Amino acid sequence: ALTLAVPLALGLIGLTGWLLSGIAMQPIRRSYQQLQRFTADASHELRSPLSAILTNAQVGLMLASDEARFQPPLENIVDSAKSMGALVNNLLLLARHQGRLAPESLKLLTLNQFLEAIVPQFRVLAEAQGLQLNYEQPEQAIQVWADPDLLRQVIENLLSNACKYNSTGGSVRLQLVPHPGWAVVQVIDTGIGIPAVDLPYIFDRFYRVDTARSLDSGGSGLGLAIVQQIVQTHGGQIYVTSTVGQGSTFQVELPLKPYQ
Ligand code: ADP
Repeated sequence: ALTLAVPLALGLIGLTGWLLSGIAMQPIRRSYQQLQRFTADASHELRSPLSAILTNAQVGLMLASDEARFQPPLENIVDSAKSMGALVNNLLLLARHQGRLAPESLKLLTLNQFLEAIVPQFRVLAEAQGLQLNYEQPEQAIQVWADPDLLRQVIENLLSNACKYNSTGGSVRLQLVPHPGWAVVQVIDTGIGIPAVDLPYIFDRFYRVDTARSLDSGGSGLGLAIVQQIVQTHGGQIYVTSTVGQGSTFQVELPLKPYQ
């Protein structure tokens, strides 16, 4: 009887613990959802006054075009309103797409062409910085179910970082690699690299490596958090490897089968 009683008691304790932890988690889950909603609502509400500030400062710039002393402060307002607008949009994106995708937003995308269409605008940007941008794709078509707007944001953020944290004469490679069960996209740069101590945190919100080197790039530290969230909502993963002074590789893996 003892041999039966012990596993039964342990099982009961385990079950009670599991039920209690589920109940204990409920208020935490609720307050997290409230925080998400607050972030989404606040970002949304900030957009109209921000666009009013931007438009008025731009009008002010035109009206005061022959008043040199008004130009610098008005230009500052325009720049700050623009970067705050980008920040607010990113916060809104993070809060809205937390862990779910609208089924109607999913499209069957042929990645070969999808990526190819993004390349030209970045080639212009790269060349302006003295960088070379290459796109490599396999002969076979690789298709995934994804939200095109969100996936474009992933690739654009990674390519933009690969150019931003690079140096003249360097290169950026965008690669689509066939892999059983997965579509693998790599963004490889020959840039400044990321120190090993920072690597575990670079997908955290607002995390920026050594603000001194990042400050002039004008980012907010939200880009990679958004990238990771979008990739994970599609059932995928993102990995990074990097060597300081040599460059970084970001690898995105997306499931070939539709993800629920
Ligand atoms: P940011 O807006 O600062 O670019 P991200 O979330 O996109 O924010 O990136 C976080 C930090 O990771 C950046 O501030 C930068 O220091 C580092 N980082 C991102 N991508 C690269 C890269 N390709 N090479 C070197 N450092 C990078």
